[in-house]
Amino acid sequence: MENPVFWNLHLAPVYSVSIAAVLGLVAGSFYTVCIHRYVAGISVIRPLRSMCPHCGATLKWYDNIPLLSFLVLRGRCRQCRTAIGVFYPAVESVSMAWAVALALKFGLSFPWLVHMVFGGLFIVGGFIDFKLYILPNRITLGGAALALAVKALFGWAAFQGALLGACAGAGFFWVLQQFYRIVRKEEGLGTGDVKLMLCIGALVGVGGLPFTILTAAFSALAASGVYMGLPGGRGLKTRIPFGPFLCFGAMLHILAGREVLAWYFSLYG
Ligand SMILES: [Zn+2]
Repeated sequence: MENPVFWNLHLAPVYSVSIAAVLGLVAGSFYTVCIHRYVAGISVIRPLRSMCPHCGATLKWYDNIPLLSFLVLRGRCRQCRTAIGVFYPAVESVSMAWAVALALKFGLSFPWLVHMVFGGLFIVGGFIDFKLYILPNRITLGGAALALAVKALFGWAAFQGALLGACAGAGFFWVLQQFYRIVRKEEGLGTGDVKLMLCIGALVGVGGLPFTILTAAFSALAASGVYMGLPGGRGLKTRIPFGPFLCFGAMLHILAGREVLAWYFSLYG
C-alpha cells in the first residue's frame, strides 16, 4: 500500500513519532473501552464516561489518562482500591507501539492512518478472542469489507489482488477446519478464524499469507507452552485462541514482512 499515497505530512521523524505515540495511547484507551464493554455485554457508546468496572464510579478525566493514570494510581481504582489489572496498560502499550512503528515506516500519511484502523481492529479483535474465544463478525467481516474498499481506492488490479488474497486465506483455513472436523473429530479452528482470514488475506494479499500464517503458527506454539504451564491449564488439551496470533502475524507482515522475506531469500543468493 505504498503507492499512491494520498497525503503525507512529511514531518521530521521526532515529530511524527511523538504525535503517533500520543494518538496511539488515545486510540488504545478507546480500544480498552471497546474490549471491556464487548466482553461485559454493554454498549460501547453508553455510558459515555468511563467507569470503574468494579464499583461503577465514574472516572475523573485525570484518572483516565492512558498509562499515566495507571502508574499514578498504581493500578488501583481511586474509589474502591480494586486492582485495575494489567489488561488496560497492556492494550494501551500495544496500541502506542503499533502507532509509533507505523510512523517510523510510513511517516504520518495515508498508509499510516489506514494501518492504524486495521491495527485497531486486530488489537480489539485479538483481545476479545483471548477473553471470550470469539471473533465478532463486525470486526472480521467488517474488516474484510473495509480492506476490499480501501484496496479498491488503489485501482482494479489492487482490488483483484485483495479479493484473491481474501479467498485464498479464508479458503485455506476453511479446508483446515474441515480437516480437523472430519479426520480428528474436533473443533481445531473456529469459524471466526476463517472469517478473520478474509480480512487478513485482503490486506496482505496472497504473497503475504505464508509469512503471516507461519508467524502466527510459531508465536501460537510458543504461547501455548506458556499457557500449558498456567495454573488451571489442561496440559496438551489446553485451548488457546488462534485469532490473536493471526492478528499478530498480519501486523508483523505489514511492518516488516517484505524486508524479512528479502533477507531470507538473500541467504540463498
Ligand atoms: Zn472502583
